[in-house]
Amino acid sequence: MKKNNELNLETICIQGGWKAKKGEPQVLPIYQSTTFRYETSDQMGRLFDLEEEGYFYTRLQNPTNDTVAKKIARLEGGVAAILTSSGQAASMYAILNIAGAGDHIISSCNIYGGTFNLFSVTLKKIGIDCTFIDPDASEEEIQKSFKPNTKALFGETISNPGLAILDIEKFARIAHQNGVPLIVDNTFATPINCRPFEWGADIVTHSTSKYMDGHATQVGGAIVDSGNFDWDAHADKFPGLTSPDESYHGLIYTKKFGPNAYIVKATVQLMRDMGSIPSPFNCFLLNLGLETLHLRVPRHCENAEKVAAFLNDDPRIAWVNHSSLEDNKYHALAQKYLPNGSCGVIAFGLKGGRDESIRFMDNLKFISIVTHVADARTCVLHPASHTHRQLSDEQLKEAGISPDLIRLSVGIENVNDIINDIKQALEISTGK
Ligand SMILES: *Cc1c(COP(=O)(O)O)cnc(C)c1O
Repeated sequence: MKKNNELNLETICIQGGWKAKKGEPQVLPIYQSTTFRYETSDQMGRLFDLEEEGYFYTRLQNPTNDTVAKKIARLEGGVAAILTSSGQAASMYAILNIAGAGDHIISSCNIYGGTFNLFSVTLKKIGIDCTFIDPDASEEEIQKSFKPNTKALFGETISNPGLAILDIEKFARIAHQNGVPLIVDNTFATPINCRPFEWGADIVTHSTSKYMDGHATQVGGAIVDSGNFDWDAHADKFPGLTSPDESYHGLIYTKKFGPNAYIVKATVQLMRDMGSIPSPFNCFLLNLGLETLHLRVPRHCENAEKVAAFLNDDPRIAWVNHSSLEDNKYHALAQKYLPNGSCGVIAFGLKGGRDESIRFMDNLKFISIVTHVADARTCVLHPASHTHRQLSDEQLKEAGISPDLIRLSVGIENVNDIINDIKQALEISTGK
């Protein structure tokens, strides 16, 4: 659903942000300045009242950051975006912008561990309750979790590390029947492979630390608004957007800012009060990553599909999870929502179990052991020894992580070299 006259994604990756005027730098400048100068006191006063648009302090807005946010908004087909200092901050602000103490949200249980903790521990402490639901449950089943104080439904296009694929249309239908927005974390798919707004999602979040950056150089996040959710039609549920904000002389966000209300509120209220703005330098690095996103993502997927097929055929491997495999539980949903490929991340286990999986990883040559995914370099992580180290085997099972699970993030090196590195490590670790 390309808007009239909108450029194609490949072009937006490159041309979508900074546009140099006569004599200006061709490349997005880094406005590494906390503050911006005005000529009269009144000029600056008007900015504080949101009577005029302009920069005054980087905690609220910065030209480098805003340029990159605009590019991401266009890539997703949204109306506006805000960048945050991490993906975690993006998830937190996406919720706090519309929910507070006494409210409730519903989330897929198959999500990133950090987001799971945010929703189940930290938001709970400040009075926001979360019900986790099985994303594959029926609409009727999911419907049962809604309460009068529910403010949002949340899921991940492709879950990390479970690699479950979200039925976005189903989720959007349920959310809208209940008068709340659907928020989708689109980190693993990126807008190159899926644009959740086209399937009815209202708000998209990202950890830009992954494919968007693509080179493991900056931690960052983004929130994009489709501009489609009618907050005023559910004004009683979303008073923060639809009733006067006394901290801005009684301004009403939906009245003053129309479809930009949600992102403006996140900027002038949440950023003002809680910070978590990324540095302009990090936004510059993110922008460089975005310029090649459309080239890198297809290569990640192509390489991962070959590696998944290789692992799937190998007798030493117990199981492989990647939606490109025909017997994968999410193959059909992947064909619908991710027809050009899902992502470069694969999960698999060795027949020899936990110890053999660890031996395998220790014998890899250029494939490195790191706590990261989705960058140019192929890397591995063993959740049972690393990210989920504190859990017993029983708890691991509950979290859907088997003790032998290896998370392999396939990079964009030559795929034969990647497979050869895996082959030699398999030979040593299994003795076969
Ligand atoms: C990494 C990740 C996050 C958290 O992002 P950070 O940038 O590490 O804070 C959120 N969601 C998903 C799907 C992720 O992979």
